Amino acid sequence: MSDLSPKAADTPPRPTPGVATLAAYALADPLPEGAVSLAQNESCCPASPAALAAAAAALAGTALYPDPDWAALREAIAVAHGIAPGDILCGAGSMELIGALVRAFAGPGDEVLGTEFGYLFVRSAAAQAGARFVAAPETRYAIDPEAVLAAVTPATRIVFLCNPGNPTGTRLPNATLLALHERLPPTVLLVIDQAYGEFDEQDHDPLFARVAEVRNLCVLRSFSKAYGLAGARVGWGLFPPAVAQEVRKLLNPNNIPVASQAAAAAAMADRAHMRATVAVTAARRDAFVAALEADGLSPVASATNFVLVPFADSATAARVDAALRAAGIHVRPMGGYGLGHCLRVTVGAPDAMARTAEIMARARG
Ligand SMILES: *Cc1c(COP(=O)(O)O)cnc(C)c1O
Repeated sequence: MSDLSPKAADTPPRPTPGVATLAAYALADPLPEGAVSLAQNESCCPASPAALAAAAAALAGTALYPDPDWAALREAIAVAHGIAPGDILCGAGSMELIGALVRAFAGPGDEVLGTEFGYLFVRSAAAQAGARFVAAPETRYAIDPEAVLAAVTPATRIVFLCNPGNPTGTRLPNATLLALHERLPPTVLLVIDQAYGEFDEQDHDPLFARVAEVRNLCVLRSFSKAYGLAGARVGWGLFPPAVAQEVRKLLNPNNIPVASQAAAAAAMADRAHMRATVAVTAARRDAFVAALEADGLSPVASATNFVLVPFADSATAARVDAALRAAGIHVRPMGGYGLGHCLRVTVGAPDAMARTAEIMARARG
């Protein structure tokens, strides 16, 4: 150390250039006491009682590390979806899988291709990996497959599509995604983020089946939305073996806590509870949309547990957001997505939804 000049010794530790250019971590808006959150796309229904009981029972085993192979959880997922347990990886939320996928397949000089209104976390994951994020334009708040294909370059390593989309709520048929996949170069990995897949009642079997047949397609799912387990931090994905092998290297070896694995396995097995949650959510969402439409608003058609509501302009959206906050209702402003004229509303309790629709109609003027 003696060869360091006094000046160099005074220099503080330096992050890597990629990390230094990332925006500072901003906590989600703290929720004031008594306020209602319709901002995080969490489930409007509690998790399956079987899941909560399994988590409580599993806590007794917390002196030991969790199962690094997620055996019981993978088995439950495999049985529910008719897929092979060996093709599944589980993450501490699907966010962990997104981060690992991006780091495994994209680095400096590479491009990660997403869409204009795609999930923002993918941009952060690309920045963390030192890769460039490229956004293909969307059409009427929906993924435009031709625009995605037109944005593929020799540097593209990953195409990341969220279907149904967050924050738009729109969805493409799986057949359209599979047709898009066929037109991608084999070197490009297509990731379909289906965090809201359970709310989208089209047939997903063909998509899952295709993953098993090719080497450059994977599908991600989450327990945070339809299963009501956002706080447990569990996600999973279906991967071709060679992709899974690389992603697994980057996951924390003991990534999912004992109680969370137990909760997720039991939630996955309780299909009736998940389906009831989806039905309740859809009914509340559709009633909310109908109320907004009756007031002359044009919410975006949603296949999820949230609704994107466009207003005349950003000033109107900001005014409506302020009126909602004053009434103790926190929805999600969309400036970060380049959708400053929109607010995203998570489906919640019926009275909160009715009040939200009422305030939106009144405050937009
Ligand atoms: C909520 C969400 C996720 C999942 O997050 P978890 O880490 O599983 O909680 C992933 N992608 C999108 C688009 C989401 O909205």
